[in-house]
Amino acid sequence: MTQRLAQKHIPLVNTEKSFEITVNNRKCRKCSYCIQICPAKAIKFYRDQVTIISERCIMCGSCITECPQQALSYRSGLQQVIDFLENKEKTIACVDPAFPAILDFWTPGQFVTALKKIGFTEVWEGAFGAELISQAYRKLLNEKTDKPLISSFCPVIVFYIQKYLPQLIENLVPIVSPMIAIGRIARAIKGNDWKVIYITPCLAQLKEMSSPEVAGAIDQVITFKDLKRLLEDQLERKEDHEETPFDGPKPFLGRVISVIGGLYRSTGSQFDILMDDITVTYGHRRTIGSLNQLAVGFIKARFFDFLFCHGCVDGPFISRDLSVIARRQKVVRYAKQEMEKQDVLSVITELDRFEFVDLSRSFLNMEQRLPTPTEEQIRAILKKIDKLPPNKNLDCRACGYASCREKAIAVAQGIADEEYCLPYLLEQSKKIYRELEKSHRELQMSHQALEQAQAQLIRTEKLASIGQLAAGVAHEINNPLGTIMIYAHLLYKNLDKDDPRREDVELIISEANRAKEIVQGLLSFARETKLKPGPVNINDLIEDVLGLVVNQSLFHNIKIEKRIDEELPTIVADETKLKQVFLNIILNAAQAMEGNGRLIITTTKDKKYIKIRIQDTGPGIPPEIMANLFSPFFTTKEKGTGLGLAISYGIIERHKGKIDVETGMGKGTAFIISLPMDASEDEGVIK
Ligand code: ADP
Repeated sequence: MTQRLAQKHIPLVNTEKSFEITVNNRKCRKCSYCIQICPAKAIKFYRDQVTIISERCIMCGSCITECPQQALSYRSGLQQVIDFLENKEKTIACVDPAFPAILDFWTPGQFVTALKKIGFTEVWEGAFGAELISQAYRKLLNEKTDKPLISSFCPVIVFYIQKYLPQLIENLVPIVSPMIAIGRIARAIKGNDWKVIYITPCLAQLKEMSSPEVAGAIDQVITFKDLKRLLEDQLERKEDHEETPFDGPKPFLGRVISVIGGLYRSTGSQFDILMDDITVTYGHRRTIGSLNQLAVGFIKARFFDFLFCHGCVDGPFISRDLSVIARRQKVVRYAKQEMEKQDVLSVITELDRFEFVDLSRSFLNMEQRLPTPTEEQIRAILKKIDKLPPNKNLDCRACGYASCREKAIAVAQGIADEEYCLPYLLEQSKKIYRELEKSHRELQMSHQALEQAQAQLIRTEKLASIGQLAAGVAHEINNPLGTIMIYAHLLYKNLDKDDPRREDVELIISEANRAKEIVQGLLSFARETKLKPGPVNINDLIEDVLGLVVNQSLFHNIKIEKRIDEELPTIVADETKLKQVFLNIILNAAQAMEGNGRLIITTTKDKKYIKIRIQDTGPGIPPEIMANLFSPFFTTKEKGTGLGLAISYGIIERHKGKIDVETGMGKGTAFIISLPMDASEDEGVIK
């Protein structure tokens, strides 16, 4: 047996007599459900960590049994009990009166055999403790009292009163619980060298055992859940177990103490619906609510029996496979069956035998009420999390508190994290998302701007070097070209009018003229000519350019639309050069539309620039040639020079302006020229 127990993989458990609930924060999903159901506000959620404030805990066990992630656990005395058994200590297992509710296929007698097989020396019915205290209650209830009495049978209720309603301590019946009673009886009979172990469905009894007012009666407490682990090897073997009777004193009606109303019934009294000075209240919300009402005098009666659970058959460590009614029935049936076998006289004799056992106890004031924060403090917290009433408080309970106000109070008391408010966090994350999106956009934009600036720089540098080369070539060609022109003219003059060679010389002159034009173009591209700045009205300038072209046949079938901003300011610029730019772009547009389409010219202004948009309805510019558009000598035309846009670009750049292009295949093209409004020679804006 010793070896078998040692082989069990039972996790390390507390061997001291202080019991605590612990939270596994890796398992915990921060759903706040434990905070919601904890009647003692003993759960702190701060900085993403859930902890149990053990001084505030009343050991009801709700958090352990209700946690959806099973992230909470308790440390019991199981390891020490194993040690007792392995060391062959003399042990008494006192089983709580609720025990019939956990028996599936064993009879109570077989259960006793199983407990003995794992090493318990004796197995007692804890119900005898109940038997004894119910007699004490009966006596007390028959006496006249000037104050309402509250049963001290349920340790959760006792802890709640000691910690949160200490004004009711004097109302608690000063009698020990059945567990302490059976412990004191066992001590009285067996002495101190026996180890008394109480086996219970209740968590609070783990703590009650070492409460200073009653300590010493019980050596260790384990739960029904712990017992199941101890009995693991036994559970399958029904046939192995013969029936063994319980040891220790025999209880009677005390066996029903674990069901609702059991305490009052075991005093020998019967319930009557017309009896309103004896009340039995059970269940978490009802008992806590009623206790608080009793504390302020809203309810009155002679005796209050409060049970935190639905009787001990509903304790946290009893299997929920059967309904609470079925569990209750099992206990009651067992009690009836045993009572039938007993004669009342022997019961009375047994009770008399233990009359000497002291059943009294006192209750320490363990007040844990937290100071109530001021209205200003509460409002400041509500404001911080954007929950100021009347419009903003949602009372959604997602944080575990019944209202935003309660949550704010908990924050002020230091047991809750103000930031942990779901709607607030959602709002915050939306805000952060929006900010991130904005900075991402800005980053993208600055990236684009950087790329554009880089492209512009490359283009400018490229144009500058081509310009230098072009200027050199142009100079060199200009002189021989002049000579060609002069001698061609002389030759032309000396030839007779009907001389067939005149046509050849005409061709030499016209081609030399064309070459001269190219050279002129190259020179102006190479910035050879200086700008001549003066006041310019862009609207007038466009009118002049259009006047030059409208009569050309290329423009006859082109509809010209002007969308002019009449308020354009006059700027300082080189009028002739700008005319050259607009002429170039307008001619290009007309050529692209092959003399058929719409030409829309728009002038606008913003804070810094005058903008001239020249939009055509031509075929658009293919993406693959966009990169070369402003390069000198780039042309798609048979007789084009490829200098128009390169020269225009240079002119606009020297005016500190820029040219943008918007185009789409089949959607036409728009050249947008931006010229700074404050351009002036003095400021050196144009050169
Ligand atoms: P050129 O007119 O001598 O070809 P440019 O530098 O003025 O020289 O133009 C370069 C090229 O840009 C043109 O050959 C043409 O392919 C293209 N282009 C200019 N403007 C337009 C336009 N509005 N629509 C389509 N293509 C255009």
